[in-house]
Amino acid sequence: MTRMLIIGPPGSGKGTQAERICLELGIVAISTGDIFRANVKGETPLGVEAKKFIDNGDFVPDSVTNRMVRDRLAQDDVAEGFLLDGYPRTTAQVDELDNILATAGVQLNVVVQLTADDEELVKRLLGRARDTGRSDDNESVIRHRLDLYREQTEVVVARYAERGILAKVDGLGDMDDVTARIMDAIKNV
Ligand code: AMP
Repeated sequence: MTRMLIIGPPGSGKGTQAERICLELGIVAISTGDIFRANVKGETPLGVEAKKFIDNGDFVPDSVTNRMVRDRLAQDDVAEGFLLDGYPRTTAQVDELDNILATAGVQLNVVVQLTADDEELVKRLLGRARDTGRSDDNESVIRHRLDLYREQTEVVVARYAERGILAKVDGLGDMDDVTARIMDAIKNV
């Protein structure tokens, strides 16, 4: 049974790889970004609250994000394993996830970090902006999201490295190659 995280800067291909890995492992992918975007689209109270943060490239406050993840992880489909994509992004979120999992009596097996350099990421994200029209894919917001990742999420990665469950994977190159590298890394942790 696999319970895992995928962490990486915006544009590193987390979402695409998360879907592929989940298909392969038969587990459910939970993307906090996707859940937020669905709520924004549906104009739910959560979506209305989250929208301004997302559009500015800021993190949605921990209290809101943590509650959403706690509710999602209480659903039945995570019993067979899960992959969290885009959470935790702050050390407060790491603590919350630790609590949620401890209460459930389960542990993470592996944390995959996808790596890529900023200039490549900006290029990819500007391309995605043209294709998908995501409201947070313009250059200044992209650079802000990358800065937040470096400032807040690199320390999250360090926490999992200390626990010996981190696998760093080069996120550049052919998508199939990246998937194969991730599957290898999962087996080796
Ligand atoms: P993503 O699709 O993972 O790049 O997430 C898109 C946006 O959703 C982020 O820029 C944040 O505004 C928000 N978001 C997603 N996950 C989180 C999280 N774990 N903590 C705070 N905000 C988040």
